[in-house]
Amino acid sequence: MESSMNLRREIPVLYLVVPCYNEEEVIEKSAQVLGDKIRRLRKAGRIAAGSKVMFVNDGSKDGTLRLLHQASARDTMFSVISLAGNYGHQSAILAGMMTARKYADAVVTIDADLQQDIEALDKFIDSYMAGSEVVYGVRNDRHSDGFFKKGSATLYYNLMHLLGSRVITNHADYRLMSRKALDALSEYQETNLFLRGLIPTMGFPSDVVYFDVKAREAGHSKYTLSKMMTLAMDGITSMSTRPLRMISVLGLSVFFFSCIMLVIILADWIQGNNVPGYTTSMTVSLLIGGITILSLGIIGEYIGKIYMEAKHRPRYIIDTFVWKEEGGSTCDDRDE
Ligand code: UDP
Ligand code: MG
Repeated sequence: MESSMNLRREIPVLYLVVPCYNEEEVIEKSAQVLGDKIRRLRKAGRIAAGSKVMFVNDGSKDGTLRLLHQASARDTMFSVISLAGNYGHQSAILAGMMTARKYADAVVTIDADLQQDIEALDKFIDSYMAGSEVVYGVRNDRHSDGFFKKGSATLYYNLMHLLGSRVITNHADYRLMSRKALDALSEYQETNLFLRGLIPTMGFPSDVVYFDVKAREAGHSKYTLSKMMTLAMDGITSMSTRPLRMISVLGLSVFFFSCIMLVIILADWIQGNNVPGYTTSMTVSLLIGGITILSLGIIGEYIGKIYMEAKHRPRYIIDTFVWKEEGGSTCDDRDE
């Protein structure tokens, strides 16, 4: 079989998939900037006719959806998927990618806030044309992040690598995937979705493109601390069972330590040194108690995840979908 690296590729129909949650301040600007980039790439013959920007409204509570529908009414280049509720960033981009793969040869996911440099798209396409099935956008630096975000991100990537996950440092879902890679991704049915960790495990020929990160164009971050914590936990529990192994190792160490302690205590008792040791016994019981509760918590996290997986719930529900062929037919199932 011919390796995909040797394939001569056709100029792709490219879709940008853009998740949007309460982005009314920035969405018109981003439609303009992203649409303009697609137009320029088409003019330059880098991408094929029919390339589009596909917005995924992730249950926004502000005017985002109305603005998106206005944009798609003005220009057939804009397609709009609206999810029934707020399913979170990962599920929103999954919904976009799974829909876009029916029309596109390659899909690039990018945030709505224009933080990720859209000019890097040329390099993504170069890499796709050279045979990559997946291209990861990696940020050059973290100047635009606050102290907390920068520190927590570094800590997180180190922890992930320690736990055996193959996440790419400083890559955050600005990524190109070919239709072949997306078809493969569609086979993964997990609810506990952490795309950044999952996609590198698929094993397709991949490449990395560096880009500059800018400050948010408008609005504020939609990743609240609790959403960030959930993503971090999902990342760990969906990619690695190493914390469970660590509990076993810890349990074993504590057991050996207790055996030694028992011998010492017995020896003391035989010699009649029955000293009351309040501090020692309190320390030991608090330590063991703490370790036990922490271990139960970690095991609980995994059981919770098993519970969610066992339900086989859909990962997102599409409420409405607007897609228009250039100058041709329309797929608009909005119930208005
Ligand atoms: N987002 C989403 N659903 C959510 C939270 C965020 O679709 O529940 C989108 C958001 O609109 C943006 C992208 O995910 O396009 C990244 O979010 P944000 O820019 O707020 O995160 P940050 O860049 O601060 O990490
Ligand atoms: Mg952002």
